[in-house]
Amino acid sequence: MKIVFATGNSGKLREASEILGGGFELVTPVQMGITDDVPETGLTLKANSIIKAEHIWKSCGCTCFADDTGLEVSALGGAPGVHTARYAGEDKDFNRNMDKVLEELAVLRTECSMAESLGVRMNRYSRRARFRSVITLIQKGEKYFFEGILDGSISYFKSGNGGFGYDPVFIPDEYPGKTLADISEEEKNAISHRGKALRAMASFLNTL
Ligand code: IMP
Repeated sequence: MKIVFATGNSGKLREASEILGGGFELVTPVQMGITDDVPETGLTLKANSIIKAEHIWKSCGCTCFADDTGLEVSALGGAPGVHTARYAGEDKDFNRNMDKVLEELAVLRTECSMAESLGVRMNRYSRRARFRSVITLIQKGEKYFFEGILDGSISYFKSGNGGFGYDPVFIPDEYPGKTLADISEEEKNAISHRGKALRAMASFLNTL
């Protein structure tokens, strides 16, 4: 089955092809002659994945899917969330994005220890975080949604050379003491938010 994956990211395309397996041929929008970008103006990950998938569906009427991912840090009220890619600015600079999260947690930590020293109890400080991916699949005009979550925590400093995005500051629960950038691509794919959402979609497609 031929499916258009609304991405221009070759790493994501490779990951999705591996997870979906040989029964599916994944093609990019560009390969289908769809070269215009659609602004991600949604207020939620789900809304953005719908916007991206609908754009492809309206352009070619073919089976297609789009994903949207966010890093949700508990102590930051779920931020960066839907703003994950552009947290520190429009240039989507991964290093500045990570620095911003580390700085915000450091400020919060100082505030909490000051409050504690004054005898004020604060429960807010924690480094718990999760990645959440939402996929919208459109087939024959019907929408189907799949979600994958990876639980973990934010490290105190960047570590590792692998991966991309926030990987150097995210410690998955499955690998205590290691960030996603410290583990191999195979190890990451086996536990990742996107891997889980893609596998859920693959199981669904295999039942059709
Ligand atoms: P997207 O919706 O998949 O484009 O993801 C939005 C942003 O989330 C990306 O620009 C990355 O900064 C971040 N992100 C998504 N997936 C991952 C991941 O697996 N590891 C680290 N960062 C990620």
